[in-house]
Amino acid sequence: MSFHATLEQIISVLEASFQNLPDRSCTATSITTDSRAVKPGEIFLALRGEKFDGHDFVESAIAQGAIAAIVDAQFDAGDLPVLIVPDTLVAYQAIGHWWRTQFKIPIIAITGSVGKTTTKELIAAVLSKYGKVHKTQANYNNEIGVPKTLLELNQDHDFAVIEMGMRALGEIALLSQIASPDISVITNVGTAHIGILGSREAIAQAKCELLAEMPKDSVAILNYENPLLLETAKTVWQGKSITYGLSGGDVQGHLINPETLKVEDLAFPLPLLGEHNALNFLAALAVVKALNLDASKLTEGIEVDLPSGRAKRYELSNDVVILDESYNAGLESMLASLKLLAQTEGERRIAVLGTMKELGDWSIQYHRQVGEQVKNLKLDRLLILADPGEAEAMATAAAPVLAEKFENHEAVVARLNQLMQSGDRLLFKASRAVGLDRVVAQLLP
Ligand code: ATP
Repeated sequence: MSFHATLEQIISVLEASFQNLPDRSCTATSITTDSRAVKPGEIFLALRGEKFDGHDFVESAIAQGAIAAIVDAQFDAGDLPVLIVPDTLVAYQAIGHWWRTQFKIPIIAITGSVGKTTTKELIAAVLSKYGKVHKTQANYNNEIGVPKTLLELNQDHDFAVIEMGMRALGEIALLSQIASPDISVITNVGTAHIGILGSREAIAQAKCELLAEMPKDSVAILNYENPLLLETAKTVWQGKSITYGLSGGDVQGHLINPETLKVEDLAFPLPLLGEHNALNFLAALAVVKALNLDASKLTEGIEVDLPSGRAKRYELSNDVVILDESYNAGLESMLASLKLLAQTEGERRIAVLGTMKELGDWSIQYHRQVGEQVKNLKLDRLLILADPGEAEAMATAAAPVLAEKFENHEAVVARLNQLMQSGDRLLFKASRAVGLDRVVAQLLP
């Protein structure tokens, strides 16, 4: 059964005061924060956001059939049926946590600088071989998305896989308290948001809040290839841990070829290419181990369909292959994707790269590192659509690889149309704000 709670129960969970409630034994069938989606029998919870204030829509939500609204004390409810709390977001999180505690199924949380969505999808695909999986939809991975995902849990689910994102210290700690995971996966500690957090050490600390706040009998699953992560985890987590890696770890994989990963005596077909995705798959195998499930069920392979712009491979009719990673980029994912391009069989390998945003004082240095990777991997060409300083840093470091800089999407498309020939392998990668997906879209049939 999906979410249900009497008004009385919700009042008690939230320690809320109330006004104008007709019948407190009445059951609410959902808590929704989108007034347009409110259906009869549900509760509307008014959130104050940057653009909208849900309190402006309480009246229409009630008119649509909401049995009550959850509001804060600043709201003048008049004769509307309301539950009143000090902070509606905190209330939403409290109900999400309460509903989660109604379930005994394993809740698996995932965070990390890169690879969260991919690893979440891999874990969900793997676990779907053993039962019904509930997972984070789209990018609902923040202080609103995590409670929303928990509120969607129902009695049919056997596992829940919850993605957790962050931008600042303290955020993951809160999400961990809300979800109380049984298993926590940290994919890595990289440089995403270093402009905000200040150092890799601070990033490591922020990710490890997931472990610090989870129940003591939970299991930590950690990337063996990331020494800073392992060190930091030790300082906050003394419970059970399982590490995974390609060079070592409790669950160690060996790439027999780019498409097959051997772990102990089992060989698994990899659903996604690249060493970084082999690691993400190993994280999923570590979850299988933590849950004592039989991994041999996975040797036939699993299917994963990632959201667009991540690990997408398009084969055009003229033997041109496009690796579309245009969804987002940071230093680690750039380096990983360039490696995948270099390992892709073909005639010429061309990287089409844009700015990695939010790197603060590290920006030029990291763009230079990307250029060096292009040089070291001996790629054939580099096309750059980036901010001037970053573009220059990449181009200079990539020499002698031929680098061309562009100022807009149209110019990149025009150049590619001139340049592309049979046997080319192209990688597209940049921060989301660069919009390289618009270039990819113009090349696809
Ligand atoms: P975001 O927080 O931006 O949504 P994310 O952490 O969810 O990102 P994904 O969307 O899974 O990460 O992957 C983003 C990109 O990072 C991928 O397109 C791929 O290039 C790269 N990537 C994925 N996994 C790894 C990994 N384990 N190590 C390095 N790079 C990775």
